[in-house]
This record gives sequence, structure tokens and C-alpha cells, in this order.
Amino acid sequence: IFHLDGDSHFLEDETTKIFARKVADHYSARTNQTLEEREASPIIHLKKLNNWIKSVLIQLYARRGDAVLDLACGKGGDLIKWDKAKVGYYVGIDIAEGSIEDCRTRYNGDADHHQRRKKFIFPARLFCGDCYEVRLDKVLANDAPFDICSCQFALHYSWSTEARARRALANISALLRPGGIFIGTMPDANVLIKKLREAEGMSFGNSVYWVHFDEEFSEKKFKASSPFGIKYKFHLEDAVDCPEWIVPFHLFKSLAEEYDFELVFAKNSHEFVHEYMKKPEFVELMRRLGALGDGNQDHTTLSADEWEVAYLYLAFVLRKVSSPICL
Ligand code: SAM
Repeated sequence: IFHLDGDSHFLEDETTKIFARKVADHYSARTNQTLEEREASPIIHLKKLNNWIKSVLIQLYARRGDAVLDLACGKGGDLIKWDKAKVGYYVGIDIAEGSIEDCRTRYNGDADHHQRRKKFIFPARLFCGDCYEVRLDKVLANDAPFDICSCQFALHYSWSTEARARRALANISALLRPGGIFIGTMPDANVLIKKLREAEGMSFGNSVYWVHFDEEFSEKKFKASSPFGIKYKFHLEDAVDCPEWIVPFHLFKSLAEEYDFELVFAKNSHEFVHEYMKKPEFVELMRRLGALGDGNQDHTTLSADEWEVAYLYLAFVLRKVSSPICL
């Protein structure tokens, strides 16, 4: 594991740093679960559903031999998915020391938290660092260009300031080859704001999650042209308990265009499930993962409360526009 130092030229105030640390400490402290603990989780079917969504994205866009950049890779839960796609090279980066350490353990095939042992044949490099602050083009100059970049359930941690959101996109854009693909999942701001409007006070949720917006939240800021730093506290049983930031998708799309990305699609998780459950191979994958019972879309095993949490997220695919050919 390589440790990345912060960029000394990167302007960041103390509060931003403190919040980034809070996020890192939260994930770092989450210890590995045994298989039994995982199966007993109140959100086990949601976890399986999210794994299905990530697997579908990977199966749709990864090609044999691809070089993969996994930003905010966490404990390396997606290593097995990349292995199935027969990728050729993997770079994983996460800010949480504890998580990247677990990722290393899993990559090396030491008993992972599923108590399965698996050796991965593709070479990998793992880094611990803040990928929304560090200039990764310098650090990864010899690893680039990548064919595909993935940032799963993590890009919203970059929207605490405009500088961080821009650094995230600049990093990905600089490292992907022209025509390369950027896949990800993150909270669906439209759903969060709609739920807030319908809520009594500044909070909403159900038996497995709650969201609390700061009192100073204003619709004006959400609708403004630079709505960075719109913070809320997110709690998801057995998974998340830390500050997060709203990412208005239409502004994310325009910002991404500044960094040479074009939108392939963005879909709320509910729409994503309905669309890809029309395809037999993904129905079969869902059945194997066991998120939706028999895979007949009746959510027999996923509880209504878990299904509501799925609605809080969207999946997106962007393509790095090819550089114009200079003759
Ligand atoms: N992508 C993994 C997955 O899908 O299993 C982990 C998702 S977890 C919900 C969010 C991850 O984002 C955590 O591992 C956290 O440490 C990481 N993260 C948050 N802020 C980050 C940053 N600034 N740089 C790198 N990783 C970050």
C-alpha cells in the first residue's frame, strides 16, 4: 500500500479537512464482518442489490484485459467482479487506511471476511489517500491510461467544495484514455430533496436509514449555479454514519462536460433494476446473489424499507470524449 501526500497547493480550509477526516475515520473504523454477521445484517438484501447493480455496470462496460481505476475502492468488495470481467490491471485508492488494508488482505487471498480464499491473477496497486485532493495524474503517470474508472457510492464525498469536485473529475479525466468509461453510483439528489420537501422537519427516514439536513439548508443554494457544500448527515444501519454532500445531477453533468465527459446514461436504482431485470443474464445474476428472491421483481426478500433506500441512489455512465485527431 502506497501512501499519498496531500497537494500542498490545494486550497482547503480547516472545516473541509475536518469533514474529510470524519468520513475517512468512519469508514476506517468499520471492521470486517464474518459471513454470519453479514447475513444477519438488517440491510443484507440491499447490500446484495447494490452488488448486483455494480456487477451489471461492470459486466456492461469492462472488457477483457482492461486497466481499471477504482476510486474510493473501500475494502475491495468489487475485486471479484473485476476478476469475473477478466480485467488486466487494477489500481485501487481509498482514503480510509483500515479499508485499504482490508482490500490488500482480500487481494492477497488471505482469509477475507467472507472466509473465502481467492487469489487474483491480475496485478494490482493499492493507495491510501484522498482522491479528491491529490493530483493523481502525477502519482499514476506510469499506470495510465486506464480503460475504465469506477467510483461506487463515493463521488458525493467530493462535493463538499467546488475545488474537490473539480479535482475528482480532473483526476479521472486525466487518467482515462479517450473513449474510456467512467461508471459510478451515488445518491440521487432529486430524490433526497423531494423527500426533504415532503418531510415535517429537516429529517426523514425509515427503520433502516435516516437523513438529516442542516438547519441552514436552503432551496436557493440547491438551485444556485454552484451548489457545493450542501451537507446532510446520513445514517444507514450497519453501513454508513457520516456527513455527505448533495450532488445535483444536472450540474454534475455540466461540470463533467468541462472535463471532456459525455453522459451515456444516469438512472435511479429503481429504474436501473426494472430495466436490467428484463435481461435473462442479469436475472440469473440476481438469483445467484439472492437480493430479490426468485428474481421475479416482487422483492420478496428485499424489505420495503430497504427498497426505499435503493431509491435514494442512482447509477451513471460517462464516456471520455475522444481527443480530436490532429493531422
Ligand atoms: N466503492 C466501495 C464499494 O462500493 O464497496 C466503497 C464504498 S463506501 C460507501 C465509500 C468509500 O469512499 C469509503 O471506503 C471511503 O473511505 C471512501 N472515500 C470517501 N472519501 C474519500 C476520498 N476523499 N478519497 C478516497 N476515498 C474516499
